[in-house]
Amino acid sequence: MIDVHCHLEQKDYDKDRDEIILKCKKELKAIITSCAHPKDFEKTLEIVNKYKDYVFATAGIHPTYIKELTEKEIDDFIEILRKNKNVLVGIGEIGLDIWHIKEPYWREKQVALFIKMIKLAKELDKPIVIHARDALEETLKILETENAKKVLLHMWGGHALMDKVNKLGYYVSMNSIIMSSKSYRKVIKKIPLDHLMLETDAPWLAIKKTKKGYSLDTDARNDSLTIKLIAEKIAEERDIDFNTIWKTCGLNANKFFDLHLNI
Ligand SMILES: [Zn+2]
Repeated sequence: MIDVHCHLEQKDYDKDRDEIILKCKKELKAIITSCAHPKDFEKTLEIVNKYKDYVFATAGIHPTYIKELTEKEIDDFIEILRKNKNVLVGIGEIGLDIWHIKEPYWREKQVALFIKMIKLAKELDKPIVIHARDALEETLKILETENAKKVLLHMWGGHALMDKVNKLGYYVSMNSIIMSSKSYRKVIKKIPLDHLMLETDAPWLAIKKTKKGYSLDTDARNDSLTIKLIAEKIAEERDIDFNTIWKTCGLNANKFFDLHLNI
């Protein structure tokens, strides 16, 4: 009952952020918000400080933002993360995204940024949260080469690579994409239960009820409470009772991010 990946600093929540968090507090044990751009870090810190021991943060630079930042801005942010290491429960989301970034020059820059961030996570002894889109094999290869140990693959769609993921001992967190994607549902079946977590990626990936169940609703705003519906869907797909999924995913998150919560 921990949403391990969302973006509470997004402006979508500016009008009712406190309300949303208090509503979540009644049903969830914790929320981990992910700061993906240096410009969002201050707001992230504000939220985490306000909701100590309830909202936790990871921070990094999302690979899609590679074109927006100079080398100096990247290095300055790394220094800021170093200084704030006690506030952070992980580094991420970081990784590769060659769906958004096509040019070879920028892809190379993306790889360099990714490696820099992995090294930072190792230096600070923090787990890593991965974003990978259309570069799944390369992402695993870099993580393996860099000897990254504590890795969570956020919204991981590479079902064909699950043998490798499991061999490396990486974790996977799933969100409402499973309502509409068969390949993500295949991942659910291949990930050991003790390596699975729940996430929303909110404010994105809201869902709506349909005749057949749920489908993605791109116009609506999502929030962390959706993990309940995601857990229900996973329980159905794996033919395991809801409470086992709910509790185990919470325990996995508590251990992985070293949150020291009473689950
Ligand atoms: Zn995200």
